[in-house]
Amino acid sequence: MLKIENLHAEIDGKEILKGLSLEVNAGEIHAIMGPNGAGKSTLAYVLGGRPGYEVTQGTVTFNGKDLLDMEPHERAALGMFLGFQYPVEIPGVSNVQFLREALNSQRKARGEEPLSGGEFLKLAKEKAGLLKLDMEMLKRNVNVGFSGGEKKRNEMVQMGILDPAFAVLDETDSGLDIDALKVVGEGINAIMRKSDKAVLLITHYQRLLDYVEPDFVHILSAGKIVKTGGADLAKQLEAEGYDEVMAA
Ligand code: ADP
Ligand code: MG
Ligand code: MG
Repeated sequence: MLKIENLHAEIDGKEILKGLSLEVNAGEIHAIMGPNGAGKSTLAYVLGGRPGYEVTQGTVTFNGKDLLDMEPHERAALGMFLGFQYPVEIPGVSNVQFLREALNSQRKARGEEPLSGGEFLKLAKEKAGLLKLDMEMLKRNVNVGFSGGEKKRNEMVQMGILDPAFAVLDETDSGLDIDALKVVGEGINAIMRKSDKAVLLITHYQRLLDYVEPDFVHILSAGKIVKTGGADLAKQLEAEGYDEVMAA
């Protein structure tokens, strides 16, 4: 589904990703772990097509198409979803307006009929229920005044509504208390744990992986994947730390 080969990317002339290769197939959940500053968020931004990130070498294909050649909205219409470490606030636009607009523009790009207001609200209620987020939150302006945990749950509601084929989630677990972590983890499973979908889960900690069990765990360090293993690799990292595991 996603194939990254020898990816090099820089910001402001500084090379951050230095030859990263990774293949993710449908039905798989891959966790990416790694020390601060390793380039994890940079990878998420490059996949999302954020301006300012320059790819200097390598290729990324998504279902066989050149991802790097597409605009962010084209990537989204093809089913790529990005959840960010720091979700944006959009004053003056309600969550419901924002999400209905986002969903319908993606449907349009795929040649599908838009959802009516009623159909959309029914879908939004179902997904908000899954993430235990009050519908009142969805009527408020996007992320404005939301707590860290509410932003993350809101983002997972967005993911449920957009129903992407591929999700890149950057530190979705940051700022979550133990109960919210469980709700978000179960939400990710309910929405994305399917044979025709895949997830790249970027996380510092093992704890989210107790709920969302990865098929593969990769350690990203200094812009490259330096080690790959199964779910046990994350447990080993938690117990021993990056330095020790990477030196082994
Ligand atoms: P991680 O998510 O793994 O903690 P990041 O991808 O956020 O790492 O950052 C990787 C490196 O890129 C860090 O050294 C960081 O300081 C640097 N970096 C991030 N953004 C910029 C920027 N706008 N300009 C220069 N360096 C940056
Ligand atoms: Mg970081
Ligand atoms: Mg980061």
